[in-house]
Amino acid sequence: MEKRISKASMSLRVPTQRWLDAGLFEELLGLLDLNTGVVDELALFTAFTHPPIPLETVTGYAPILKERMAAARARGYACGVNILATMGHHNENLSHSLQGDYARRTDIDGNTCAGSFCPNDAAYVAEYVVPLYTAVAQAQPDFIWIDDDVRSGHGGIGPDCFCEHCLAEFSKLCGTLYSRESLAAAFAAENEKAVLALKKQWLQVKRRTINRLFETVETAVHRIGPAIKLGFMTGERFADGYGFREQARILAGEQQREVMWRPGGGFYRDTAPAGMTQKAHEIGRQVSLLPPGVRVIQSEIENFNYEALGKSIVMNTAEAAVYIAAGCTGAALNIMNLYEDVALEKGELIRQFAKQRPFYDALASAVERKPTRGIFTGWSPDGEAVKNLRAGAAYNLPAHFADEWFEIGLPAAYSPEGACLTLLGGLLPLAFDENTILDFLSQGVFLDGPALDALNEAGYGELTGFRTAGCGDDDCIEVLGGHPLNAGQDGRMRDCRQSFWKSRCFYLEPTDAQAQPLARVVDYAGKTKADCCMGVFENKIGGRVCAAGYYPWSFLLSHSKSSQCRSVARWLTRDTLPAYVATLHKIGLWAREEGGETTLILLNQSMDPAEGALVKVLTQKTRLRTLNKEMREQTIDSIGGDGPYRLFRLPSVAPWSVLLAVTQ
Ligand SMILES: [Zn+2]
Repeated sequence: MEKRISKASMSLRVPTQRWLDAGLFEELLGLLDLNTGVVDELALFTAFTHPPIPLETVTGYAPILKERMAAARARGYACGVNILATMGHHNENLSHSLQGDYARRTDIDGNTCAGSFCPNDAAYVAEYVVPLYTAVAQAQPDFIWIDDDVRSGHGGIGPDCFCEHCLAEFSKLCGTLYSRESLAAAFAAENEKAVLALKKQWLQVKRRTINRLFETVETAVHRIGPAIKLGFMTGERFADGYGFREQARILAGEQQREVMWRPGGGFYRDTAPAGMTQKAHEIGRQVSLLPPGVRVIQSEIENFNYEALGKSIVMNTAEAAVYIAAGCTGAALNIMNLYEDVALEKGELIRQFAKQRPFYDALASAVERKPTRGIFTGWSPDGEAVKNLRAGAAYNLPAHFADEWFEIGLPAAYSPEGACLTLLGGLLPLAFDENTILDFLSQGVFLDGPALDALNEAGYGELTGFRTAGCGDDDCIEVLGGHPLNAGQDGRMRDCRQSFWKSRCFYLEPTDAQAQPLARVVDYAGKTKADCCMGVFENKIGGRVCAAGYYPWSFLLSHSKSSQCRSVARWLTRDTLPAYVATLHKIGLWAREEGGETTLILLNQSMDPAEGALVKVLTQKTRLRTLNKEMREQTIDSIGGDGPYRLFRLPSVAPWSVLLAVTQ
């Protein structure tokens, strides 16, 4: 039994400039003291530029780090070190960074990143990584964070690494010693199945690369300081095969020590607020892979390059709450400036974080490590292997292809275990094995045209109920038909303007007498282009399928389309969705169920306040207790029912604000 999470885990990442200088460090501690409880721990950065720093720099820092960490502990903070570069992020400040004849990260064309080294070069690991972690461990930190340079994709060279060491490692797995040229040719070969298998093996060798590096780091650190906790910062890691489960196990070592995680993603400015929800879903995917024993999961709140006006206080403070909704148990604030007056620029931000700390605590203890339940976007750690198997945007969807489904109040799930319904787009079905596909098809599944084709080609045609019958790139309008799932919307049209927002429409044809069309497409003169562009089918293994060929992932924000999405989702899941927003509001929803209690976290994703939003909750309970960021608590009585769902009218939710709601 894991220990309960009773409060959030909050930390501050401290730039090198602010701890190297004793006066600046004292000033920072003073600012934190004015805001009691804003954070529990401080992580001191080893560097402010991104390639590995020379070893003599690190050994020079060690006594200062030791002194500062003692000072922080005396003020009540846990304190440790954030090693900014283990491999190195990219080219920056190269003249003051690590030199040496080690393998640089290399792309498939042979281009290298001078500021990033390959951990498959054994000499690099033995001569740099081990002494680096040893020196830092000797300064007696409470914890050491490994930063997000441990990944593929370094400044300027894209997914890597194809250096001679990596190719040699690959040969141990696949039995062929490829050159960069021959591997590029093998990845581009005609035989789709063979290419897919090779790409999946390549992902496996990339997972093993990080595993080996972490075995070395774990041994080096715990030999010096057995009590030092290790943490790893990640992002969306498709190119590395998303091997978090094994990485967490390795960092815990044989003693199964506590491991911390810091899921992140790029949302540095709030110019486009949807970047925050995109990041939340990325974080949800990352967290879903972590073993239940990982209890400290601090989202990265990052304002790089740290200008005071770069990101508003509203968005900064909302981020910590939203990322807890997606699965974190706290946040790591990377918000400090390097050179400006810290009290002037960051004083109010820190004050507001302190003010909302009780709300974060309430959210973290409500969420714990419970998985969200709802709609799963069919992603897989092997997803990168299907990328570019076929040319065209419809076959190569970005990871956030279905985010609009989560802007209309439908609940997000990040793992197959939490799925009531799985959305499969592009060639994603090919990333899964047969058992998983049959699992999807025996429950609820929503398919776009390419995903339908991929399943039919793989022999599941009898279970999908439809096939594609041609496609068109322009001048289509969807017309909803007279079907109960379109109740009240019969004849309503949706024009997504293919001439502006290019998206191929896949025309559909039922292959089973039981398959039912939901919509057709017409041209701009009203002439039918295809009798069916969307339909539903119940298959013989008890699964329910919806196939949609016209903008299945975007332009869902109208009344008619969002209503249809909700109806279809309820039908596909046989009324097992834990909750959803039933009115025309732009609200994100994360739902968790445990012991007969449903916990909802809602985010108003609009600049308008959400007034009068109705939420339907799958529960027998008739009361909902809500808590907002000001810690205002309200208990709401159900105002009716709809089948197994109870209906509640939510209190007003401010723009880009979070509401916690728990059934009573
Ligand atoms: Zn390499």
